Amino acid sequence: MPQYYIWTIGCQMNKAESERLGSYFEQLGYRATVSAEEADVVVLNSCVVRQSAENRVINKLNALKSLKRSHPNLTLAVTGCLVNSEIDQLKQSFPQVDYFLKPGDYPQWLEKDEIGSVLPRNPSPSTFVPIIQGCNNFCSYCIVPYRRGREKSRPVSEIVGEISELVQRGVKEVTLLGQNVDSYGHDLPDRPDLADLLNELNTIDGLLRIRFLTNHPKDMSPKLIKAIASLDKVCEQISLPVQSSNNDILKAMNRGYTVDYYRQLVTEIRSSIPGVALSTDVIVGFPSESQQQFQQTVNLLSELKFDTVHVAAYSPRPGTLASRQFEDNVPPAEKKERLQKIEQPQERIATEINARLLDKTVEVLVEGRKEGKWWGRTRSGKLVFFSDHGSFLGQLVKIRIEKTSPWSLQGKVELGCPD
Ligand code: SF4
Repeated sequence: MPQYYIWTIGCQMNKAESERLGSYFEQLGYRATVSAEEADVVVLNSCVVRQSAENRVINKLNALKSLKRSHPNLTLAVTGCLVNSEIDQLKQSFPQVDYFLKPGDYPQWLEKDEIGSVLPRNPSPSTFVPIIQGCNNFCSYCIVPYRRGREKSRPVSEIVGEISELVQRGVKEVTLLGQNVDSYGHDLPDRPDLADLLNELNTIDGLLRIRFLTNHPKDMSPKLIKAIASLDKVCEQISLPVQSSNNDILKAMNRGYTVDYYRQLVTEIRSSIPGVALSTDVIVGFPSESQQQFQQTVNLLSELKFDTVHVAAYSPRPGTLASRQFEDNVPPAEKKERLQKIEQPQERIATEINARLLDKTVEVLVEGRKEGKWWGRTRSGKLVFFSDHGSFLGQLVKIRIEKTSPWSLQGKVELGCPD
């Protein structure tokens, strides 16, 4: 039986696509292997959002060069965000690669018969479902619109059908994915939006929870906030990247909102959705970001107190507006210091927020078992571990929290559960 190996880095979109790619190979009679050395086909699902990610992809490609020499029958393919429209140039740079696949494409050179559904056969109880590809926003630092192209939404009926099938295969929770889920549907004939889609998905029997990633502050509508507040299966968890808390930097980033607008949006979300967990993304060391401008971001984070903050140091991506227009003039040591100045207080904030759950009972969807402990997430996305001999995979269990940390919670199954 031929074997395949998929190496994936990057965002959840890449992970979801790799899962589907794996299912595609299995329908063709391939078996998964855990090492490239044993495989007949190796696919690298790449990310180039940051320089560090691109470097890892290039290192991996270089390492596979010698494997290709010693296994001349090995087929090597690359997909994901490294694959741009200049395939000829990529072929010149990486002659060891046999095929370059656009993100979301399948290795059709292997297909002999028509392939059925590419949904994973044995999905995890919580799984990712892409609903919109690409992005029209052109934030000045971001390479995604150049690599993944313009927004393309999947029809509501297709998504509903797919999730219904996933539920029959054991899925209990879905996370809808898009670079900007708030743009969902504007390119479809009836122009449904994310709130309409959530309304449809909320009616699927057997589906217990719905999440989505990532929102864009300028596009998140009051209608969506109402839908999250009113639909019982939609979880109280929102990812809302702010990136900076200085209006000049936001303008240079081409984000399309001001700090005040963002602040009001957070207030509206929190007053409409009790118990909502908010996460945000921040870039430090954007070209010309002064100490004072950086401090404004630190201040906003301490004012709004997010559950999670993903912080990254700016790195210029060739081809983006920012890399053409601005000099990368914040020194690396300064960027590193700014990262710490965000991470340290955020650890204290997350400690405080999670400590509020001590001695409380939370509902956890169990996703797996690791080092003798079951683990799963609350509706608000908190990671919870508990020890128990029972069998809990895919079940909703009530857990009494006994220990908290900034990153996770630990507890015990409450008597009388699972229900
Ligand atoms: S919204 Fe901005 S940061 Fe997000 S994918 Fe689109 S261009 Fe990139």
